[in-house]
Amino acid sequence: MINHPTSESRTTSRSQHRSGKTMKALVTVALILSSISIVMSAYATNQIIHGSKSATGAEMQTPPPVASPVTVPQVSTPKPKDSSSEGAALTEKPAVKPGTEDKSIANTGKTPASSEKTDTQSTVSAQKVVYLTFDDGPSKYTDTIVDLLQKRGIHATFFMIGSQLTDHEESVNRTIELGNYVGLHSMSHSKKKLYDSGKADPFLKEYQQEQALVNELTGTTPWLIRAPYGSKPGVNADIRDRLAEANFKMWDWTVDSKDWNYTGKPDKIIQEVKRQVHRDTEVILMHEKSQTVQALPDIIDYLQKKGYSFAVYKPEMHFPVNFAKDDRL
Ligand SMILES: [Zn+2]
Repeated sequence: MINHPTSESRTTSRSQHRSGKTMKALVTVALILSSISIVMSAYATNQIIHGSKSATGAEMQTPPPVASPVTVPQVSTPKPKDSSSEGAALTEKPAVKPGTEDKSIANTGKTPASSEKTDTQSTVSAQKVVYLTFDDGPSKYTDTIVDLLQKRGIHATFFMIGSQLTDHEESVNRTIELGNYVGLHSMSHSKKKLYDSGKADPFLKEYQQEQALVNELTGTTPWLIRAPYGSKPGVNADIRDRLAEANFKMWDWTVDSKDWNYTGKPDKIIQEVKRQVHRDTEVILMHEKSQTVQALPDIIDYLQKKGYSFAVYKPEMHFPVNFAKDDRL
């Protein structure tokens, strides 16, 4: 219906005229609001894209910022071993001598991991966190391990051998894409090449080379290393100085599952883990082995029952876990 402003309907017409004005004003406001929201969402989108881009960019170049450590797990004493796999070189002496070199914990002024446990109810300690770590990949087991973790909604930290990376490029990328961390485990894993000279150069070179290779294959740049056979006794003070200078971090472990030694005996691995796990923060050494794959579901179940949550290494949350208690690493 069209309104004709006539003399007999002046009042009506005036009010219609007024309401027409109001409508115009409302439309204007609506237009302004919608254009503001368009601008804002465009801005937000741009922020997100730009943000993620620069994060990736930064990751490639510089070592990650390191937060002051939250927890220092007590590093377990490595046990004598005889085979050629991880831990084999941990023979001679206990890595952590009681009463000596405790300054890394003292200096950082944090509470050493408490050892309270054995409550019938799951311990009411602040947070119990476990880091599952898998060494010596990538291998034919990598995908299976990653699948297993994914099914449980958890992540792990992998220390991969440089010389095996190219043959398993897809698995390595998949491991990272699904939320796990891939750290460095040297190019050669050779005791002879890495430790025999006692010099820092060969050791450092292998890790720098592997870091570049991981970057080339995956676009990520890991700074966390694990020394083959553990850092004792091969990684001497010289090598540690050089690692620290070069901004590398180095993790040993708090629990040695000894899985490499239990071929065909997954139950032994589970037993070993149960025997050793008790700290609020645990870093469990495992390997990409068939028996480990078999033991893994039960290990995860057990840790969950004990109240642990599963964490993956985060550079920005780094804390030292090394036998020398070197808090630079
Ligand atoms: Zn290894």
